[in-house]
Amino acid sequence: MERKVRVRFAPSPTGPLHIGGVRTALYNYLFARRNGGDMILRIEDTDSRRFVPGAEDYINESLKWLGIKIDEGVKEGGAYGPYKQSERRDIYRKYVQQLLDTDKAYIAFDTPEELDAARATTPNFQYDASTRGSMRNSLTLPKDEVEKLIKDGAQYVVRFKIEPGKDVVVNDQIRGEVKINSSILDDKVLYKSADDLPTYHLANIVDDHLMEVTHVIRGEEWLPSAPLHKLLYEAFGWADTQPQFVHLPLLLKPVGNGKLSKRDGDKLGFPVFPLEWNDPKSGETSSGYREKGYLPEAVVNFLALLGWNPGDDSELMSMDELIQKFSFEHCSKAGAKFDYQKGIWFNHEYLMKKPNKELAELFKPILTKKGITGFSDEYIATALGMVKGRSNLIPDLWTQADFFFTAPESYAEKDVKKRWNEDTPRIMAELISVLKGIEDMTSANAEKIVLDWIAEKGYHLGNVMNAFRLAVVGACRGPHMFDITELMPKNEIIARIQKAIETIK
Ligand code: GLU
Repeated sequence: MERKVRVRFAPSPTGPLHIGGVRTALYNYLFARRNGGDMILRIEDTDSRRFVPGAEDYINESLKWLGIKIDEGVKEGGAYGPYKQSERRDIYRKYVQQLLDTDKAYIAFDTPEELDAARATTPNFQYDASTRGSMRNSLTLPKDEVEKLIKDGAQYVVRFKIEPGKDVVVNDQIRGEVKINSSILDDKVLYKSADDLPTYHLANIVDDHLMEVTHVIRGEEWLPSAPLHKLLYEAFGWADTQPQFVHLPLLLKPVGNGKLSKRDGDKLGFPVFPLEWNDPKSGETSSGYREKGYLPEAVVNFLALLGWNPGDDSELMSMDELIQKFSFEHCSKAGAKFDYQKGIWFNHEYLMKKPNKELAELFKPILTKKGITGFSDEYIATALGMVKGRSNLIPDLWTQADFFFTAPESYAEKDVKKRWNEDTPRIMAELISVLKGIEDMTSANAEKIVLDWIAEKGYHLGNVMNAFRLAVVGACRGPHMFDITELMPKNEIIARIQKAIETIK
């Protein structure tokens, strides 16, 4: 019977979600939606030593910001919960027992010191079929001694008894057939009595089974866990519902070789986290795409293409288009270079596409932060519409449009030198009267009147217009001058020219 597609994103809350993890979540989501399936968010928090407060909220907030919707999870609920592993202790206990009862696992009492000693005496020591016979475990100790140790509260772990010398074949939808010999695997610890919790290995697999996961889609760094995943499914008797493996290619450094790291981002100035993160321990702040002024649509589009292509040359794709086109056939095996400049390009494209009114909403917090009030939504939207072509990230909108909201406090020296001479104040005073006389400040109309006046007086067009711009903008930059003056209140324009006449020497 065809099973309904069910995928899970299964992060461990050990810190901020890395951008590679975001891509994993995105591919899970795209695949689930493409196939009418369910997307589960499972929090894998069985390693209490690595738990970081705030990390789970961070994951939720990141996915929400990006528009990756979860069908089942801690917050969303669902029929397969709880979705947080630390709340599933009772469930795991039963499965650990099942493996012990069927002789697929055993109890080991070796202390850390004993393990160290074994490592010291046996080169390349690995707890496996070749060594387990000489260690302190339920395979070597008499049954009553094992029972007594447990009764007396001795700490122990449960290890998976891996049969050596068998080929384990894992089929991966991207990597094809991956074959390893079971002899290279160690008898993985599945459970620790010390905290009465399973390890990642057991919890991950039991939950994939109980949550009826059909596809395990995760980063390539988890490929080494796949044979164990398969062997455990077999040991439990679930082999016929073994999920399909899909191991996604690594994200690579933008320059040089190797895996993308936070240091690359710090060095080259791009975030490796979706949202800003304040580390509760070190107090250190790491930048995030959201706070840097990226649009979530742009980040999604950019990430989708790191390791996958649509099979045609489309580049700009909305979430819905990505869903329509997504398949693993067009995923690459090779790692994907993290071309962060392409990310900036995407953001520019999405800024251009965004209606000015929506841009204004995203921009308003910047004004609020600067204590600037009193501008209508329409004014803000029109101003931003004029400068978005020159902007990549949201804060660039401020750099480009600042003069619409605040009068220049100084004038670019270089431009003053070039465009402002002893004649300029007189001409600017004349310009003020010309402007005062214009009733209709629409761009084309004002332009015609001002240019006619310049021509009539025989003034130097470039010098006059640039001095005008210098007075209003503070530098020789910005959109078409008469588009600016159409939007800005006339008295403000005049006040600025007046001030320039008084201050520029
Ligand atoms: N908890 C693992 C992680 O942090 C999950 C790996 C998997 O998806 O199986 O990524």
